[in-house]
Amino acid sequence: MILRTQTPSATYNLGLKLGNTLKAGDTVCLYGDLGAGKTVLAKGIAKAFGLESRDVASASYTIVAEYETTPPLYHIDLYRLEGGADLEALGLYEYLEGEGVAVIEWADKLPPDAVEKTISVTIKFESEDTREIIIEGTDEKNWNNM
Ligand code: ADP
Ligand code: MG
Repeated sequence: MILRTQTPSATYNLGLKLGNTLKAGDTVCLYGDLGAGKTVLAKGIAKAFGLESRDVASASYTIVAEYETTPPLYHIDLYRLEGGADLEALGLYEYLEGEGVAVIEWADKLPPDAVEKTISVTIKFESEDTREIIIEGTDEKNWNNM
């Protein structure tokens, strides 16, 4: 599915829509350069879990922000992850294999086999406010009823 948004709130709303399709155990990998809109989209996903934007901080310093929603939401941001960092030691696999929904910014820093079945979202700059958003691994049928 390829979409285009012209504003941050359109990207947020797309995240909300995607968030409403997610089930426990799902993983959403977000790809895109700095400033592409990954966090904006993640905040939209979090809204589907009942979290407001202001409650969802940037997870880049902590790497993982865990929210006690139902199912739990793990907002993971690998921006500051060092190359060769031990994901096992960081406990990341517990989140990826857990009961909750994991949303991962800079997912390209994960080894290719780190997550099994995933939904991936790639955000590309088209112009200052326009983004091309490619969503893969989601069942488009679930989107039409929303
Ligand atoms: P990332 O997490 O990918 O580094 P952020 O979500 O933190 O990026 O920031 C995206 C920036 O781009 C914000 O300042 C936002 O206001 C701006 N922006 C402009 N147009 C869009 C759009 N269509 N979708 C998302 N963000 C947009
Ligand atoms: Mg971000």
